[in-house]
Amino acid sequence: GGGIAGLRAAKDIADRGFDVSLIERSPFLGGQVSRLDRIAPTGEKATDLIDTLAGEVVSHPSITVLTCAQVDGFGGYIGNFTLSVRLEPPKDPDTVEHLKRIQEQKPEPGRAIPFTGLLPAPPPTESTTVTVETGVVILATGFKSYVPRQGEYGYGETPYVITLPQLIEKMAGPAAKGSRLEIDGRAIGSVVMIHCVGSRQIPGIHPEDESGHMNEYCSRTCCTATLAAANRIRETCPETRVYDMYRDIRTYGHGQEDVYEAASRNGVVFSRFEADSAPEVAKNDGDSGHPLQVTVTDGLTFGETIAVPADLVVLATGMEPNDVSNLVEMMKLPVGADRFLLEVHPKLRPVELPVGGVLLAGTCQAPFDIGESVSAAGAAAAKAAALLSR
Ligand code: SF4
Repeated sequence: GGGIAGLRAAKDIADRGFDVSLIERSPFLGGQVSRLDRIAPTGEKATDLIDTLAGEVVSHPSITVLTCAQVDGFGGYIGNFTLSVRLEPPKDPDTVEHLKRIQEQKPEPGRAIPFTGLLPAPPPTESTTVTVETGVVILATGFKSYVPRQGEYGYGETPYVITLPQLIEKMAGPAAKGSRLEIDGRAIGSVVMIHCVGSRQIPGIHPEDESGHMNEYCSRTCCTATLAAANRIRETCPETRVYDMYRDIRTYGHGQEDVYEAASRNGVVFSRFEADSAPEVAKNDGDSGHPLQVTVTDGLTFGETIAVPADLVVLATGMEPNDVSNLVEMMKLPVGADRFLLEVHPKLRPVELPVGGVLLAGTCQAPFDIGESVSAAGAAAAKAAALLSR
């Protein structure tokens, strides 16, 4: 995987003098981080982070980057694995569309349009298979964002309900009209943000997805990301009101509580709801001029029902592991009830799998923020180097 965890692990191992093959399914390096704009709590540009790291990986003499590449055969044992890797021209319509945009807009070499990451080489024009021999394998297959069900908080039924990743993408360009937020050409006077969408689901309250699963875990990054977006709106567009509806606020990491405090200072209006009485998003038939109305039973005012007229509803969607069922089958990997890959022991052997010589890095294991993903990647790289030296 060529997201931030895979890039970091590749660079760390190569810097210790070992050869590394980095195998990435898409044509791009940078993964989910390259879809972000600014990173909380420091406010750094995500693309700067990825450009620097991916640039170092691509130019490293000991790293071979294979993009549009998938592992379709795996054998051997620790110290002596053989992987068969298929290189295929991209078929996924979104990816093909991204590549087309790049070709049409002729960006500087290597640099893609925002939100696609770094394009290290042109994609292959025909299918080929290569063999990679290696002593150690690190899995850094990452996560995907939860996609709300049709009708979940009005998602898919009105264009005025979007997800947090969609908001971040829309706000990365010019997104203000005077002192109001402007999204898709509409001036936004009132935004409602709803937490825990697709995370912390409870049997009996939330429905299962079509494969019979539910996400009972906390995705751990969405509270801070939501509040950072709320701050950005309030600080750049003071005429846009922001209402934040949460079950709990979990801004647990270093510097992240400051983001929560800043939201209070910025005049974000908080309401707290219980899992079994989630906010209701409905069409606003009144003459308030706002297309939606969100109704919530608010624990902060001892159960008052509050109706908020809204121009935009933003759903703080959580993380789900990418589908790696082919790898799970081929490599006999253990998977937890939450569908993330399962380490040997969460405290004592946190980046190891029971298959000797196969290690984990990043959000294929659990929801992590960027710092945690990079730490896990550093740990996996250190383990890998120790095994290879032996
Ligand atoms: Fe909910 Fe916050 Fe956990 Fe995300 S981080 S699942 S919004 S409690």
